[in-house]
Formats: sequence, structure tokens, C-alpha cells
Amino acid sequence: MKNSRRDFLQKLAASAAAFPFLSSYDVLADGGLKPITSSQGPTLRVALMGLGGYASRVAEAMQSCKRAKITGLISGTPNKLSDWGDRFGVPEQSRYNYENFDRIKDNPNIDAVYVITPNALHHDQVMRVAKAGKHAICEKPMALNATEGQEMVDACAKAGVKLLVGYRMHFEPKTVEVVRMRTAGEFGKIKFFQGQCGFRIGDPSQWRLDRDLAGGGAMMDIGIYAINGSRYMVGEEPVWVTAQETKTDPVKFKEGVDETILFQLGFPSGAVASCLSTYNMNYLDRFFLNGEKGFAEMQPSTGYGPIKGRTNKGELTQPHVTHQTLQMDEMAGIILDGNTAIVPVDGNEGLKDLKIIDAIYRACATGTKQELHLV
Ligand code: NAD
Repeated sequence: MKNSRRDFLQKLAASAAAFPFLSSYDVLADGGLKPITSSQGPTLRVALMGLGGYASRVAEAMQSCKRAKITGLISGTPNKLSDWGDRFGVPEQSRYNYENFDRIKDNPNIDAVYVITPNALHHDQVMRVAKAGKHAICEKPMALNATEGQEMVDACAKAGVKLLVGYRMHFEPKTVEVVRMRTAGEFGKIKFFQGQCGFRIGDPSQWRLDRDLAGGGAMMDIGIYAINGSRYMVGEEPVWVTAQETKTDPVKFKEGVDETILFQLGFPSGAVASCLSTYNMNYLDRFFLNGEKGFAEMQPSTGYGPIKGRTNKGELTQPHVTHQTLQMDEMAGIILDGNTAIVPVDGNEGLKDLKIIDAIYRACATGTKQELHLV
């Protein structure tokens, strides 16, 4: 008992070093920690767009936020608007549908819109949010391709609003600790990263398996975690990519919907990454980083947590904090206070991943190595 209390306090101390704004916690039913003291500051007032599965998770997590709250809702389903409105205390005048949400520009109680719709809708919706003069938080993948992504970055810059991408792992305590250790040189010169991301997808009629709405298959949805993870774990931008696609079920995974892709990235230092993206294997959520002086291994590495991992120095003991709670509190600081994330979450970060995805699909189609120009 004594030991577990000491472990717990050590975890809190370790986390407080990484997240100075988190000074104490409540333990939640999922074992996660809810920050009960955070830095002072204004509250980010957020409208959620697309009230589906992931938005439900975000909405629940936001109930524990110190600096972000739900003040608007956008949905095509009137019942959802009234149910969610009643549940989260969003008044009727702040509930919108996809036809009229441009009127959000006249709503002084909304600072930002969090776009949580199918991938193909992100581009146009973020463009409209920017036009309405509101900050945009957009789910991953930020868009279907780099051309769309660039337009979104440009439109938000022109409108003077921020564009952030829902990269929740960039705030996750164990992930941040590995990034800190790498930056401090504790693993020595980085040589290799392995990212394996996938799950067996169910219902064949869902939008994730519809090329028009998803923009691809597993790569757009889950493979992007291996791409993004390669970049923040290695700490460099890749300069080339090669990729190979395999498909065992062409009925479920139609033309343009990738089932399994293996890809390799090369970095300027000579480090390499070997990654797997799939909709056809379960229990695939693993990162491995290898340097001349040490390693980090995380499994699960990108799920909702708790994330588990160890390095050559021992277990990672930072506490599990509900990812979306931490993400939204941190994003409030980024948008309202101009804070900088340890691992960036801005539109350019999303754009880099889209450039890599475009190149991976080109590499699969042509069987050739693709050069990348991300910096
Ligand atoms: P979902 O199907 O559960 O929800 C999508 C919502 O969009 C639904 O409420 C649906 O009604 C609405 N919608 C609006 N227009 C639509 C249209 N034309 N066709 C279909 N649905 C439409 O999907 P989800 O799992 O919530 O995913 C939404 C987004 O969130 C995706 O971009 C996905 O990649 C992302 N996501 C991110 C994470 C994460 O951990 N960051 C996790 C899950 C999903």
C-alpha cells in the first residue's frame, strides 16, 4: 500500500515535470487522471461538428477540461442536436446544421470549431470555419491530400485563425517523455524506428471503407499514426519513402481503399523507419525506437490508453491522463495564449503527413522510391 502510494506520487512528480500546468489530479473511472488544478487563463469555447463516435469521446473528455468547454454543436441530425444540446448545456441558438453553420461567425460564444466528420468533408468544412473567422481544430487525416491541406493552411492564415489537428498523442505523458529523452540525447544517435498500426475493420458498409468519404483505407485512418509517430519519435523529417501494398480481400477493400501497406522512410541523418498500416490485423499498436545508446518500446503506443512502454532505463511510469482532456486543455493554451506544443499540432504538421501519404500511394502505384521535400 505504502509502495503504491509512493509510486503514485512519483508518477505525479514525473508528470508535473513534463506538464507544469498539471499540479493535482482526480482519479477517473477509466483509471485516467483528471487535472484538478491547471494554469489560469481564459476558456476556449468550442463547437463540435459531426456528432459521431469520436465526437462522443471528445465531448465526454471535455467535461473534465479546465480550459475548454462545449458551447456549440453542428450536426445534420436534429435529434442529436437537441439530445447533445440538453446533455452538454448548449442553447438552441448555438446549435447548427451543415447548411447554416456559416452563421457561427455571428456567435460571440464560440471561439473554435472542432471538425470530427468523415475525412472527405474536412477540407470544405475547415474552409468555411476559417471564413467565419473561427479557429479550426480538425481531426486526422486533416484532408484527403496535400493540395487540400495546403489550401486549408493558407485559408486559415489568410483569415487570421489557427488551424490545429487532433493529434492527441502529442500531449500524452509517456510519449512526451520519450520525445524528451530523445531530444536530450539519452538514446544517442537515432538509427531506426518501427511503427505498426492496425486493426481488423468490421462493417463493410461504413464510410471508412468508402473511398469517396475516407480518401483511401487503413493508411488514412490508422497508418497515419505510424507516419506521424516516425516523425516525432525520430525527430527529423523524412527525405524518401518506399511502399508496398498487399490486398487479401478485394471485395471488402475496393479500388482505392488500401487494406495493408508496408512502408519505409529514410531520414537525413541516415536513420530509417519500417512501418505497417493495416485494416486486417488486430493487436497492432506498437512503436520501437532504436538509438546507439538506448531504445524505447511502446505497446500500446497510440490507442486511447493507458499507453504502456519502457526504455533501456526502465518502465515508463508517467500517469495516464485522458488524452482528449489533456489535448483540449493544451489546445486552449495554444489558441488563446500562443503556447507552443512540444510536438507541433498545427496545420503544417498535418500537411507534412498528407505529403507523406500522397508519396506512399504514389510509391505503391509506381513501385518506385519517392523523394520527400517537407522542410
Ligand atoms: P463516425 O462515423 O462515428 O462519426 C462521423 C459523424 O459525421 C457522424 O455523426 C455522421 O453523422 C457525421 N457525418 C456528417 N456528414 C456525413 C456524411 N456525408 N457521411 C457520413 N457521416 C457524416 O466517425 P468517427 O469515428 O467519429 O470519425 C470522424 C473523424 O474523426 C474521422 O476523420 C476520423 O479519422 C477521426 N477520428 C480520430 C480519432 C482520434 O483518436 N484522433 C479517433 C476516431 C476518429
